[in-house]
Amino acid sequence: MIPINKPWLGVEEKQELSNILEENILTSPANNGGKRVQEFESSLREYIDVKHVIAVNSGTSALHASLLSIGVRPGDEVILPSFTFVATANSVMAAGAKPIFADINKQDYTIDVLDMEKKINKSTKAIIPVHLYGHPSNMNEINSIAREHSIYVIEDACQSLGSTYFQRQTGTLGDIGCFSFYASKVITTGEGGAVVTDNDDVAEKLKMVRNHGMIHGYDTALFGLNLRLPELSAGVGKIQMKKLDKMLKIRKNNADVLTDGLKKFEQIQSIINLPQETADKKFNWYLFTVNFKDKNQRDLVKNHLINEGIGATVYYDPPVHKTPYYNNSDSLSVDVLPNTIWAWHHVLSLPVHPLVTENDLHKILKVFENCK
Ligand SMILES: *Cc1c(COP(=O)(O)O)cnc(C)c1O
Repeated sequence: MIPINKPWLGVEEKQELSNILEENILTSPANNGGKRVQEFESSLREYIDVKHVIAVNSGTSALHASLLSIGVRPGDEVILPSFTFVATANSVMAAGAKPIFADINKQDYTIDVLDMEKKINKSTKAIIPVHLYGHPSNMNEINSIAREHSIYVIEDACQSLGSTYFQRQTGTLGDIGCFSFYASKVITTGEGGAVVTDNDDVAEKLKMVRNHGMIHGYDTALFGLNLRLPELSAGVGKIQMKKLDKMLKIRKNNADVLTDGLKKFEQIQSIINLPQETADKKFNWYLFTVNFKDKNQRDLVKNHLINEGIGATVYYDPPVHKTPYYNNSDSLSVDVLPNTIWAWHHVLSLPVHPLVTENDLHKILKVFENCK
C-alpha cells in the first residue's frame, strides 16, 4: 500500500541523530532553545523569509501558542473553517475561546471570505484561515477585512510549507503563521511545529509561552506551557529543510503527471474537477485533491484505488463541526455550512509525495480511465 503521505528520510538524518546522541544534549530550556532548535529555526527563517521563527513540539502547539501570545481568552471568538483537521478548532478550545465555523469556497476549499466577514462581531479576536491541501487562502481579502475590524490573522500553514501567494510564502502573509512537522507533512521531525511572525513583541511572547511564560527561569510573567521541541527532532528538521526544494519538485512533477494523464481522458471533465493553481497561488502539492460531480462515483473510485494499493483518502470525513464532540457541544450553535458539506461528500485526495512511484501514478490513472 502506498500511503497518502510518508516521511522521506535518509542517511543524513541518521548521522545527525547519532551526532546529537554522542553530544548527549537532548533539549534546552533556554529562552532561545538548544543548538539544533536554533539551527532549524534559522533554516526556516531563511527559507520562508520571515523575521522570527519559534520552533515548538507540534502544529497544535504552534496554534495554541499563537492564540495565547495575542491574549485570546475565555469570552473571545475565533473564526475558522470547519473543513480542516480538528487541531485548528481544538487549539481555540485550549485557549478557552469559542470556535466560530465559517464555510469554504468550492474553488480551492479554503475559507469563504464573505461568510467569514458575516461572522465577525465585537467578541471576534482572531481569524484562522487554513491553507488546506497546500492551497493558499485568499489572504489579501482576509487581511483587509481583519485590519478593518482590528482582528488578528493566524495562518494555519500546517499543510502549506512551500506554497506561495503572490510570490510570498504562506505563513508570512498574516500576523502569525503556524507550521506542523508531523510525520505526514511536507517535511517532518516526527512530531513538531513552528510559529513564524514579523512582530517582535509577539515573538518575545511566543518564546515565553513555549517555556512556561519564563525568560530567565522561574520568572513566569505570563501563562505558558512546555511546548519545547527536542533537539533530536530539531536535528532531523534541519536536515529535512535541506531537501525541501527537492521534495517539492518531486511533488510538483507527480502532480503534473496526474494532471496531464487525467486530462487525456475525454470524459474526465464530466466526472471530476482537478486542483488548479493560478498565477498568484502556487501549491506545494501536499495533496492532489479532486472533486467528483457524483458522490457515489467518488466512493467507488476511492475503493478501487484502495484495492489497487493506493491510499486515496477523504479529508475531512467528517468536517470538524460534524464530529461527535463539536456536534454535541451545547455552547456551539453552528450554521449550515453548505459548501463544507458538499466538499465532505465530493472530494478525494491522492498521494503525490516523493515516495510515490511512476507505477503508482500509472495505477491511479488506470483506475480513473476505467471509471466511466
Ligand atoms: C497537521 C495539522 C495540524 C496540527 O499539527 P500537529 O503537528 O499534528 O499538531 C493543524 N492544522 C492542520 C490543517 C493540519 O494539517
